[in-house]
Amino acid sequence: MQDKILDISKRRGIIYPSFEIYGGLAGFYDYGPVGKRIKENVENLIREFYVIDEGFMEVECPTLSPEEVWVASGHIENFADLMTECKKCGAPYRADHLVEAHLKKAVDGLGIKELEALIEKEKISCPKCKGELDKIYNYNLMFQTSVGPGKEKKTSYLRPETAQTTYLAFRRLWEIGRKKLPLGVLQIGRSFRNEISPRQGVIRLREFNQAEIQIFVDPDEKDTEEFKNVSKIKVRILDKNDKESDTSLGDAVKKGVIKSRLIAYHLGRALQLFEAMGIDPKRLKLRQHRDEERAFYSTDTWDVEFQSGDFGRVELVGISDRTDYDLKAHQDLSGQSMEVNIDGKKFIPHVIEIAYGVDRPVYCVIESCYAEDDRGTYFKFPKRTAPYQAAVFPLVNKDKIPEKAREIFNSLKQARIFALYDKGGSIGRRYARADEIGIPSCITIDYDTLEDGTVTVRDRDSKKQERVKIEELSKRIL
Ligand SMILES: [Zn+2]
Repeated sequence: MQDKILDISKRRGIIYPSFEIYGGLAGFYDYGPVGKRIKENVENLIREFYVIDEGFMEVECPTLSPEEVWVASGHIENFADLMTECKKCGAPYRADHLVEAHLKKAVDGLGIKELEALIEKEKISCPKCKGELDKIYNYNLMFQTSVGPGKEKKTSYLRPETAQTTYLAFRRLWEIGRKKLPLGVLQIGRSFRNEISPRQGVIRLREFNQAEIQIFVDPDEKDTEEFKNVSKIKVRILDKNDKESDTSLGDAVKKGVIKSRLIAYHLGRALQLFEAMGIDPKRLKLRQHRDEERAFYSTDTWDVEFQSGDFGRVELVGISDRTDYDLKAHQDLSGQSMEVNIDGKKFIPHVIEIAYGVDRPVYCVIESCYAEDDRGTYFKFPKRTAPYQAAVFPLVNKDKIPEKAREIFNSLKQARIFALYDKGGSIGRRYARADEIGIPSCITIDYDTLEDGTVTVRDRDSKKQERVKIEELSKRIL
């Protein structure tokens, strides 16, 4: 299945490995002309949910930042995987992954000594050549570089997440937001992690896209009345004690499984967002981080996971209460106060973080929308995420039909609708090409169009055809 979806994605211009003519590089993928449209649509849906609906700000910060940022955040010290290498063939491995694969269960929070002891006790060896494994060491996942020449040269890093760069401008954002909490800030952009031999296609990339939201709140007011709007959403929950149940968000809060209504609200919004993108809601699950897996400063962390046919459990978003950890760390190292003063109450705001990947949801949209029937394989993208809203076909290439088709195509362009013009081959063949990339509507211009000003609109999913007046076309296909 994995090869099948990726294979189709390559051929249809959705996603394909980067640098292919030089043999590729693990962890890097291009979005092709079709995939780029889908990704833009997914990002715009995220924007709509948070900037329009929630009234949050959107910012964009550099992908390269000086060392101090990552010293304060703890990434220099802690953003590392525990590595080992085979003494015989040199193959690199994540030590915890080797142990997990051997024991067939998760081993969170184990240090170097504990993992080395397990490897010795269980006699774990190199999966490739059975060679002995070397000592375990910390491998930092950040890409290091430097900015400027000579004496000015400054050690810098490509950011491993967007969130930290949002924190840095907190004082300024606080002023711009007219000193009110809660203050929500979205950043969509690229991040970089020098992963150890990534093999999961687009699920684990070394250069990837994120949409991270920081909601700065008063620690005494971690709540929202808006929760009532999502409390009836039913979902499968896997709690930190590995207990699984189907429940409503309202009941999960009542039973204390989700501790805060604010976090529960944003979990509900994330589920709504994924459904709007076209991700199958039946394959989504809320998973609470186990105590030993959660960062020490976080009081509660949840992921929304997708059950992928190709990659197993795929984390799409993480929502966590990060307390005042990040702002305080930057205050300590920079010497700049991150404290706010609201009516005489002075405090460092707490942060609820909503961290979306972008590439993973895009992949899960592709997997969810993949369909097969007598016409072959195609994609059922919703209108909002489909790469193009419509395809325009002249029935024949004579008798003023192409001119009329061009005129309609141009009017769609003027209405800022993404449409494709296709005049090659039979209409059936053109329907098939449109279905292959998931275009929801096909518009055919025929002899009747010249007479009565109507066109045939064919729906991708039902294959039903209808006559529609040209004036009503843009309303119909949007
Ligand atoms: Zn080996």
